[in-house]
Amino acid sequence: MKNLNFITKILHTKFLKEDPHGSLHMPVYDNVTFEFKTAEDLELAFAGKKPAHMYSRISNPTVEHFEQRIRAVTDARGVIALSSGMAAISNTILTIAKTGDNIITSKHLFGNTYSLFEQTLKDWGLEARYADLTNAKETLKLIDERTRAIFLETITNPQLEVVDIQALSEAAKSKGVLVIADTTMTPPYVFSAKEFGVDIEVISSTKWISGGATSIGGVIIDHGLYDWNRNPKLKRDVVKYGPFAFINRLRREVYRNIGACMSPHNAYLQSLGLETLPLRVEASCANTFKIAEFLNKPGQVKSVNHPGLKDSPYYETARRQFADKPGAVLTFDLGSKEQCFKFMNGLKLIRKATNLHDNRTLILHPASTIFCEYDDETKLQMGIKDTMIRLSVGIEDSGDLIADIEQSLGRVR
Ligand code: PLP
Repeated sequence: MKNLNFITKILHTKFLKEDPHGSLHMPVYDNVTFEFKTAEDLELAFAGKKPAHMYSRISNPTVEHFEQRIRAVTDARGVIALSSGMAAISNTILTIAKTGDNIITSKHLFGNTYSLFEQTLKDWGLEARYADLTNAKETLKLIDERTRAIFLETITNPQLEVVDIQALSEAAKSKGVLVIADTTMTPPYVFSAKEFGVDIEVISSTKWISGGATSIGGVIIDHGLYDWNRNPKLKRDVVKYGPFAFINRLRREVYRNIGACMSPHNAYLQSLGLETLPLRVEASCANTFKIAEFLNKPGQVKSVNHPGLKDSPYYETARRQFADKPGAVLTFDLGSKEQCFKFMNGLKLIRKATNLHDNRTLILHPASTIFCEYDDETKLQMGIKDTMIRLSVGIEDSGDLIADIEQSLGRVR
């Protein structure tokens, strides 16, 4: 059948090989190695002439099925699952860039991604150039012959800014520059990255995809839009693998050598997570709207930030890109760090923990946690205020959540 919906495709993604017992779930192949009948078969597999699993750091049937499910719903050229979202980001950059190259991005990023660019990769001679990605014209001015990609988050964490991705990707294309989008806040089902011109999608599947924080994982998706001939590092791979240059270089070199593979057990959990992704996304987005509207009432808090609110500067762009699902994270301002802590400590239901898209609602003070390693000046440039609280909204009953927020706000005021 053609034109199946997201959830139907996920639930009915065929196994590449029939299960001998007719299992409906792909079993957990928790093994390391795979036996071959003959030495010749082994030789063909290592030469890449006969597709086969050889060693679970490189590929594994359970992990492959998870990858196939994502491929089924994204119509991607290739998908690779990794041990974490950070592994997805770092493996991608290591595949496309080398010393002396540069990546254009924003200072408004997830803290560890900023640290990857500003510390880890900088030490290896990769330059991060920071732009306001909401301004495509200004961003283009930073491009030179060593620019290998523009890297963006679809909704920045925790600033909650939304870039006009179509405009930025069209601008990047005019210069032949790759667009990499971290879609952790808006994974497939919410956002069709390919339709907006994203070349490579990276996701922390730890978040929504895992089923609500069951396991750590990451995903890289090659949407097949980019001409890899334009990347000097991948030229020899284009000769060998044509349009599959990126995915093959990744699988056969960077992913294999760095060793940040997804474990088969995590792939099983994450595959289960995919089966309920639409249901959970709908529930948390609906809760987020209700909480945002409650907090936005006069006198509740100093300000509320959520791209789904009509007074957000990103409302129109978010609507165009994510329809009625502009993420399940909101931030609000309580005027001082002391008030933020008092509010957090007064909550009875909402949990104080660092993560996004758990099934439970989680609260965090970003300035003193994820961004604690940066000085005040850097935090300011990153859009992190001491007065800001981040809420990742779960799937509990919205009335219960609002009651908890209301009783704690009552103590703060
Ligand atoms: N990207 C974003 C937007 C995130 O919020 C996070 C983690 O919070 C990551 C990437 C990293 O994901 P992981 O913890 O799976 O490495």
